[in-house]
Amino acid sequence: MTNCYICDTPLTLENSSKEHILLNSIGGHLKSKDLLCNICNSKFGHEADTELANQLLFLSSYLNVKRDSGKNQIIKGAKTEDGREYHIDGDRPIHSKPNFKKKVEGGETKYLISARTEKELLNILKGLRKKHPELDLEVAKQKFQWKEEYLNEHLSNEITIGGDLAFISIVKTAVDYYILTANEKEQVKHLFEYLKGNEKLNIIKHYYPTKPIYKKDTNEIVHLIHLRGNKYSKLLFCFIEFFSSYSFLIILSDKYEGKNISSTYCYDVLKSQVVEKQVKLKLEKEAINITSKICQNDFTTITNKLSRVLDIANKIKSDKEISNIIQKTINKVFYQYKNETKFTEQMIHELSKEISLAYVKFAFRGKRKTQTLDEW
Ligand SMILES: [Zn+2]
Repeated sequence: MTNCYICDTPLTLENSSKEHILLNSIGGHLKSKDLLCNICNSKFGHEADTELANQLLFLSSYLNVKRDSGKNQIIKGAKTEDGREYHIDGDRPIHSKPNFKKKVEGGETKYLISARTEKELLNILKGLRKKHPELDLEVAKQKFQWKEEYLNEHLSNEITIGGDLAFISIVKTAVDYYILTANEKEQVKHLFEYLKGNEKLNIIKHYYPTKPIYKKDTNEIVHLIHLRGNKYSKLLFCFIEFFSSYSFLIILSDKYEGKNISSTYCYDVLKSQVVEKQVKLKLEKEAINITSKICQNDFTTITNKLSRVLDIANKIKSDKEISNIIQKTINKVFYQYKNETKFTEQMIHELSKEISLAYVKFAFRGKRKTQTLDEW
């Protein structure tokens, strides 16, 4: 039997919990029931883990990572240049709220409504009927047109990575991984008060090695944990990288007296599988100086890494959208000819015309100025 490493309560069937060593919300699947009790686990879940998950939400959501719950989390607060607010649901920007406008024209009152779901529309119409009892809900619903269109503008959202609270979650990943690998907690017990938030320690920093420390496959986006302990140098450290982009170095101990360890865990978030990696990380002296600030090189590295990740994601999305366009167009054209018994040249002509029209609309989205309608 093991004890919760934070509060030392013996773990039983009733109080043990599945601790995700890499957060499940960012697509992590490595977990253990032998680390934390459910009370400690949910405390982390509500505080440090939530902070880190929110900071990485843009990538988790944009890459559609697989979570145990199967649900996609919605990003709120993305804005266009002129300040219109959208939520992002995986691939799709959606209006942040329904829209409602009243217009009086030649003694006639008109309402312009935009809603995102049928339920929302019905609620708005029901509200309107209180004022106008003569309103026929069915007739009003029929007048409504569902529209789907590309957003021809850039959306931006503020992203921060790091800070005290998120750091606790990242250090926890390193501690979890150490305890799981070494099957002991003595060498890291001085970190537990830090994890509880009772003590401040300078043990983690943003860390971008000057040379790549493992080989990247094309189109691969991974989370990586690399743990190294050396009983001669007395150093126990952990390198953690999220989404092949943001990386951190955690000095777990500089008085390490355990066995020599070198262990790597790497998870491909697009393929949802564990991959083998050889990590070569020589830790220079300056890396141990955990107070060193982010330098300009780090900025360049992170920008390059992020743009690689976004390129991969965009390629996947664009391939998906193109096959979507083709399927939709086939369905549409097929519907017109569903009673035909012969496949004619006319049909092929129609099909290729429709596909190229839809494709042009997709390929040139955002490349022209259009008047956007508030109604949709
Ligand atoms: Zn506990």
